[in-house]
Amino acid sequence: MKRGLGRIFHNTQAANGRTNNPSADDRTMPVEVPLSSNGKSSSAADLIRIDDLVKDYDGPIGPIHVLKVVDLEVSQGEFVGIRGPSGSGKSTLLNMITGIDRPTAGQVIVAGQSLSDLNENELERWRGEKVGVIFQFFQLLPTLTILENVVLPMDFARKWKTKERVERAMSLLEQVELADQARKFPNTLSGGQQQRAAIARALANDPPLLVGDEPTGNLDSGTSGMVFDLFEKLVAQGRTFLMVTHDRELASRISRVIEVRDGKLIDTNGNGRKP
Ligand code: ADP
Ligand code: MG
Repeated sequence: MKRGLGRIFHNTQAANGRTNNPSADDRTMPVEVPLSSNGKSSSAADLIRIDDLVKDYDGPIGPIHVLKVVDLEVSQGEFVGIRGPSGSGKSTLLNMITGIDRPTAGQVIVAGQSLSDLNENELERWRGEKVGVIFQFFQLLPTLTILENVVLPMDFARKWKTKERVERAMSLLEQVELADQARKFPNTLSGGQQQRAAIARALANDPPLLVGDEPTGNLDSGTSGMVFDLFEKLVAQGRTFLMVTHDRELASRISRVIEVRDGKLIDTNGNGRKP
């Protein structure tokens, strides 16, 4: 039962990312390049390192070139915004970093792990422990209580003993000020409360990396501001956070914003200017 639910949870992520993962056998495996051989410097503090990443999708009249040979380094503890026109490849970039989808070429290393070295099962397990994903439409499972939604990733990863999981989930719900809503079902909560529950769920396995794909896109501006305050608090605690946002006001509060445009990544400050 528990495993079945775990699978639903992960499929929900994949569905949101609109992936069509090729099987391990027929995809083009990225060529392993030793870090020192390509002349690029590497820092031990990099939580994310992307080298020469290419992502194409099959389109009706040939390949769609979404990411055209991009590099990115994100240090541990950084708060990075991602913006760009609709369809520019923001979600695609996140999907490469979370291993929800595979690159056409190039390599992605997160927390020292080269994702191309993992098969689909290993990748799913790795993601459950190392990455917390927060979606625009929350993606809480409607048939589970808020508490059960937060416990679920812990059941899946088995990093904590069974009897510790509920206690840990309650303490995460306290952190997002939702302890009094723990026994309720998601559809009885407001959008802001559901998103805070989804944040508690993302923190379940204490991942070093948090990723949000327009996490405030479905909230009113007051609620967005409160959720964003929470993100800042999590970064202040040492987590790394990547957040796609269209909200100019929120972006202006982030010191580093990557712009995805014409298949390339451009580093800017939060006001859209080059640093
Ligand atoms: P953004 O998040 O910036 O709006 P996406 O990363 O979702 O953009 O999409 C970038 C481009 O890739 C779009 O043209 C989109 O239609 C295409 N795309 C995304 N996912 C797939 C997929 N699974 N199959 C085919 N094309 C896709
Ligand atoms: Mg998107």
